[in-house]
Order: sequence, then C-alpha cells, then structure tokens
Amino acid sequence: MKKRQLSPARRQPERRTSGADLLALLVVGLTVALAACNITAPSDPTPEPAGTLTVRFLDVGQGDAILIRSPEGKTLLVDGGRSTTRMAEHMQKYSIDKIDLMVATHADADHIAGLVEAAKAKPTYFINNGLAGTTQTWDRLVTALKDAGSTFQKANNQVFNLGSARVSIIAPPAGMGGDQNENSVGVRVDFGKFHALMTGDAEKPETTAWLSQNRPEIEGPIQVYKSIHHGAANGDHQAWLTRVRPQNVVISVGSNTYGHPTQTALDLYAANGVNIYRTDELGTVTFTGKADGTYKVNTER
Ligand SMILES: [Zn+2]
Repeated sequence: MKKRQLSPARRQPERRTSGADLLALLVVGLTVALAACNITAPSDPTPEPAGTLTVRFLDVGQGDAILIRSPEGKTLLVDGGRSTTRMAEHMQKYSIDKIDLMVATHADADHIAGLVEAAKAKPTYFINNGLAGTTQTWDRLVTALKDAGSTFQKANNQVFNLGSARVSIIAPPAGMGGDQNENSVGVRVDFGKFHALMTGDAEKPETTAWLSQNRPEIEGPIQVYKSIHHGAANGDHQAWLTRVRPQNVVISVGSNTYGHPTQTALDLYAANGVNIYRTDELGTVTFTGKADGTYKVNTER
C-alpha cells in the first residue's frame, strides 16, 4: 500500500556517524537499557489522537455527498450530490474553503455534479475509479479540477493521512467491466477506534468480490456506514453486512422515482439491528467521533 502525506513530512538532513558518535550512542543505549529494567508499569506507546472527527452526510436530495473533517481541520469530500446550487449552500454553511482530498466514487451525476462547485475549494488530490464519464458534467468537473491545480489519481488502494485520521481508498476489483456503479470507489476513514465506511453505489458483484479478497478495510465493526446505492435492492446484502457489522447506517436519499430506499434494504438493516438515518427525513446527518470509539449523532430536523 502506498501512503501519502497530505502535508509532506520535513526530511531530516543526512548525517554521517563518527567513532565518537558511536561511543556516545553506546553509552546512551546502555543507559536506556538499564533504565528500562526499572520500568514496572507499561505505558501506552501510541496515545490516541485528541479532538473529534466529523462525518457529515450532507442533505443533497437524491445523491451522495459526505464531508469529513479531521480535528486539525483537514477536509475530505466524498461525492458532491447532483446540484451545484445545493453544494454552494453547504460550502458556505460549513465553511468549505479548502479541500485536501476529493473522491468521486463513480461518475454518475448524482455523485459528481456538485463536485464541479466544490472544485472551487481547490482539492489537493482528486481520486476516481479511472472510468471517464461520458457526460458534459464530467467534462466540466475535469476542467474545474485542472483549473484548481488538483493532482488526479486513479483509485489504487492508497492511504492518506488526513491530519490524525487515516483514509484508505478501496479500489474497485478487477473484472467489473465498464459499469459505473460496479466500479464504485470505497473509502474507509479510521480515527483511533472510530471507523466510517462508504462505498458509493457498489452493487452485489463488487461487494462480493471485495469479500472474496478478504480486504481488511471492510472488516467491522463500523460505527458510521453509508447505505449502498441509496437503499436500492441491489446494494447491501447479508453476507456483506455480516462482514462490515455497521452500527449506524445513513441512507442518502431524496425524492426519487427509483423506489429508494427499498423495503428490502430497510428490512435488512432492521434485521441486523442497525440504527437507520435518512437524509430525506432528517436533513443533514452528522456524526462526531472520538478516537476512543465513542460518538454523538446530530440531525438537522
Ligand atoms: Zn447514486
């Protein structure tokens, strides 16, 4: 896996080690070793990061847009909904003036149209599934991102540091053909013991392939989970939820003619004891998580 720093770490100057330095190192090493013998109470080697991670499912009507902020104010936007006007309102309301990482899970309009507006926040990195869209909306997005100076990357299981949170990109498995939904990019965010997972509109063939790959990124429990494909019947299924073990599911949905969310999906979540939040009923849904795994939920309505 490749790991990238959104803010690159400063490189230490190279230094040669002399004989005198080696002697000094030996003395220091011996002192540390002796001191270690006296330690009785084990200390936690990696203290949990402070602050909270915010995962906000923006109410964009029928579509997806998830805004994630690290305690340090680093920003990840996963999809942007279908409306530039709606996205402009959210950008103002939540002060989105810089995006560090933007992910388009796939190139359908209900996921990328709002990203054209969000490109004004000059994303440092833009990640997509590698399948170019065939619409004017897609062309507009590419132009906006080029103007913003964004670095384009195809989803390749990259890992990013978003401040003290970690973002894992889950690349579509090979052999999914040319369908946009079945080539959805997955995103997992880990902040200590607080975990979020979203996989766009991935349909059963894609999630089944991820299951057979035994990917660590899909292992639950997951506190914050996005319903696949707005609660369509071809999205979430039992074998997948058994692995993911979501505690809360957010269905990002608006008025639509597809029958989203389906009773099949709602029954599946209920049978698995998952708390259900719908953006069409509750507006924007926000989770605020701490590194110890505890969290709070707020809804707009
Ligand atoms: Zn969709």
